[in-house]
This record gives sequence, C-alpha cells and structure tokens, in this order.
Amino acid sequence: MKALRKRGAEPGLSIVEVPRPGAPCAGEVLIAVEAAGICGSDVHVYEWTSGYEWMRAALPLTLGHEFAGRVVEVGEGVSEPVPGDLVTVQPTASCSACAACRRGHPDLCTAKRTLGLTRDGAFAPLVTAPAASCFRLPSGVDAELGALTEPLCVAAHALEVGGLRLGHSVVVLGAGTIGQAIALLAKRAGAAPVILAGLDDAPRLAAARDLGIEHTVDLAAEDLEAAVTRIAGGKVEMVLEATGVPVSIRDGLGILQRRGVLVTTGIHAEPVAFDLTGLVRNQHQIRGSHASTRRDFETVVRLLGEEGDRLRAMITHRLPLEDGVRGFELSRQRSALKVMLRP
Ligand SMILES: [Zn+2]
Ligand SMILES: [Zn+2]
Repeated sequence: MKALRKRGAEPGLSIVEVPRPGAPCAGEVLIAVEAAGICGSDVHVYEWTSGYEWMRAALPLTLGHEFAGRVVEVGEGVSEPVPGDLVTVQPTASCSACAACRRGHPDLCTAKRTLGLTRDGAFAPLVTAPAASCFRLPSGVDAELGALTEPLCVAAHALEVGGLRLGHSVVVLGAGTIGQAIALLAKRAGAAPVILAGLDDAPRLAAARDLGIEHTVDLAAEDLEAAVTRIAGGKVEMVLEATGVPVSIRDGLGILQRRGVLVTTGIHAEPVAFDLTGLVRNQHQIRGSHASTRRDFETVVRLLGEEGDRLRAMITHRLPLEDGVRGFELSRQRSALKVMLRP
C-alpha cells in the first residue's frame, strides 16, 4: 500500500510503498482510514523546523494523527469496537506503568506513544491502533467530521486549562485550525466577546466568519490593541495563543486585564522574551496547554453528534492521499484551513 512518510531527519515527505499491516495484535484494531487531516504540527515535521528533533529515533514513519475510519479487524481480547464501526482515535496512548500513569494521570505519561509521531499513523489506507483509544462516532457524523475530533480536543483542553467561564472576554491569537476551534468552543461555552486575530490571514479569517466567529481581526490591517479596545471596550480576561510566533506572547500580555490568564498552545521554535515585571505587577498568569485527555475526546465526540455539521466549514480542501505533499504546501502557505486527505 502507499503511505505518506517522513523518511529521514530533513525537510520533506514522500509517498512510499510500504507493506500492508498484518493482523492486529492483542488489544489492537486495524482501521481502514477514510479521512485524515493535516495538522500544524505535521507541517512543522514536513518543514523539519526545530522542536521535533526527538522524532528522529522514530523515523522513517507514516504521519497522520487526526483521523477517522472503519474498523476492519480486531485483535485478541478486543470486544469493542467491532468490525464495521466508524471510529476516531485518540492518537496518544499511555503506558499504564510509569509514575504519572500509576498516579492516575495517563495524559502526563512519560512513555507515551503517539500515532503519526512515534508509531505509524493514518496517512495510509490502513493503520493499527489500540482498541482502548478508539471512540465510536455518533450516527450522522461521517469520517471527515470525525477526523476533526483531535484538533477540537486540543482546543477544548486549552479552554479547560484557562478555566474559561460564562461571559469571559476572550482573544484568540492565530487563525489556523486550533485558533478557530478554540474560538468556536469558547463561544459555545458562553464567552463574549470572542475575538480571533490572524496576521495577513484573509482566507482563514473569512473561513472563521463562515463558521460564525463574527469578530475577526487581520493584524496586517489593524493594530491588535486598537482592535480589541474597539470590540471589547478594553482589555480582555483571557488570551489564548495558537501561533507559535514569539511576539504573540508579548502582544497577548499587552491586551490582558490585570489578573488575566494567557494560555499558550503554540510550539515555539525559539525562546521568547517578555516583560516579567509587567507580568508580576499585573498578576498575569501564563499557562501551557498541550494535547488532550480521554475526557476531552468523550466531550468532543458527543458535541460532534449534536452539531457536527456546523463545523464542516473548517475543512477547506479534500485531496487523495497521492496528492498529500500538495496538501502540505496548501497548509503551509496558509491558503487552506483544514486539508483532509482521503486514503
Ligand atoms: Zn493535531
Ligand atoms: Zn505512563
């Protein structure tokens, strides 16, 4: 079968012929992938920017961690899911043996394995995954909506880390999928106003407005502080950063009310400088949010069942797996929001 793989520690990806996976081992299932989204982190791996050196040991590797597909075969001891089920998969599986796992924090596992980052992922017609990581999609949710589960979970987790409450004023920095998902879920959780800012990001900000995020700001045309004052009437209670651009931390702190919280989700290739005394005097907090938990998956899968179709506008391109590299270029040039590969 053909797979989209990272062959070595250098920029690029290639379509490569690989052996079809064998029968799944005990506790695992074999899934026929129907849709797999290109993530911002995949783009970093494609470009081979710093921050992903730890992947070196896992190469060569098939990427793809945001996906859904049909279970075709199950290994020994698996009672759920069953063949024929349409599932999405939490890509990170914990070891259940390390100190964090034993303390009941599997999401903090120090020996976790992640599909598409440390074991073969879903940019291929078939992928093997742990049965316990599978979530059956509700009726009415198809594979491409199901493949949005993981990025929505990353967003849901960031809001939980921030402690978002009804009526909070929120600015989201970054108009990519994670930024858009954060803004959407913040609105759904009752935040107001929710402002989404991007830099020279017209196509993705237009997609955001189609999704119902009415307050968008293009920083190429308007100053952030001025725009936030215009829309929110002053500084905001929470800023969520999804850019990976160092200056966004300083900018985010600049529009944050005293005692406000800045949640950062971006992967920053460079150290970030900001005014720490200002942070102390303003009693600001910076909190890091990364990946998501099993509970986030349960929440988001349920949410997709209720109003999944509304989120379909997040998907701007659908391509066959063979055109995967073109999909990466579209994502990289920020002309696309979510690119779905259909193996
Ligand atoms: Zn992702
Ligand atoms: Zn562990």
